[in-house]
Amino acid sequence: AELLGYADSECIIHRPANALKELIENSLDAGSTKIQITVKDGGLKLLQIQDNGHGIRREDMAIVCERFTTSKLKSFEDLSTIGTYGFRGEALASITYVAHVTITTKTVDSNCAYRAHYSDGILVPPKPGVSAEPKPCAGNNGTQITAEDLFYNVPARRKAMRNFSEEYNQIMNVVNRYAIHNAGVSFTCKKQGSNQVDISTLSTGSIIDNIRQVYGVNTASELIEVNKEYREFEVKLKGYISNANYSVKKMTYPFLYLSLDINPKNVDVNVHPTKREVLFLHEDEIIGRICDVIQARLANTNS
Ligand code: ADP
Ligand code: MG
Repeated sequence: AELLGYADSECIIHRPANALKELIENSLDAGSTKIQITVKDGGLKLLQIQDNGHGIRREDMAIVCERFTTSKLKSFEDLSTIGTYGFRGEALASITYVAHVTITTKTVDSNCAYRAHYSDGILVPPKPGVSAEPKPCAGNNGTQITAEDLFYNVPARRKAMRNFSEEYNQIMNVVNRYAIHNAGVSFTCKKQGSNQVDISTLSTGSIIDNIRQVYGVNTASELIEVNKEYREFEVKLKGYISNANYSVKKMTYPFLYLSLDINPKNVDVNVHPTKREVLFLHEDEIIGRICDVIQARLANTNS
């Protein structure tokens, strides 16, 4: 694929769910408590996210989609204590290389929202002959980002994704994972079909409520709680394991939700561009402890 400015291997957006993951992380980094997603044709025709976070300032709108533009690192030292999902300034740029992007955003201290259109990392006019500068418009506090016609300029990839429902499943997978973990943030995902609008909402009680809602767990006894701290490794471990009697809807495998709270100075997030993998100190020892805990908990409840 000829992605101007991007070698194909560098692009982190391979399917709609990858783009959505990045957009959700940005909304969470912006302190949002309400995230509404709209999807058409498995996210290929339209992928839209609306949040109620802190918004983007008018003067930053020209550069937000440039590569390596981030507001999340203020100093070199911050790199060792990253507390946000983003810090590379790579995601929005990548999306503008493979889709038509529109951002409408309002900060609390601005009187109005601003809207701008982007392509290949820069502002572009909404139509020929008009200015590319962000335009004032009505809007709520927060940010709406719309990506349209994903892979319009990468026909091979576009063609490989004919199964919209598979793409939609991947999208729901991403939404569900972030929704379970981020108790306190409500997620809505609306699927716009030719004649139907499907809405699935995840509202927010506790993590356990979210797990119940996503995986259809009925009673608390179907979930085994894990709650441990290993001071010597500066790690807290919290999670839920389904017990042996449980089956995920029609599937019959158990699931595990695990949250590791690690001192950021012990984590290296620079090993994988989308942070699918990270390195952390004492990894082998910590994994060993986790396995022990899980085995012990399962042995207790299934006997
Ligand atoms: P990163 O998340 O690594 O900083 P991104 O390319 O994902 O890079 O985003 C670039 C910048 O755009 C962010 O640092 C942030 O300042 C701004 N931004 C993106 N999405 C949002 C949002 N939903 N709300 C507020 N600011 C946003
Ligand atoms: Mg980001």
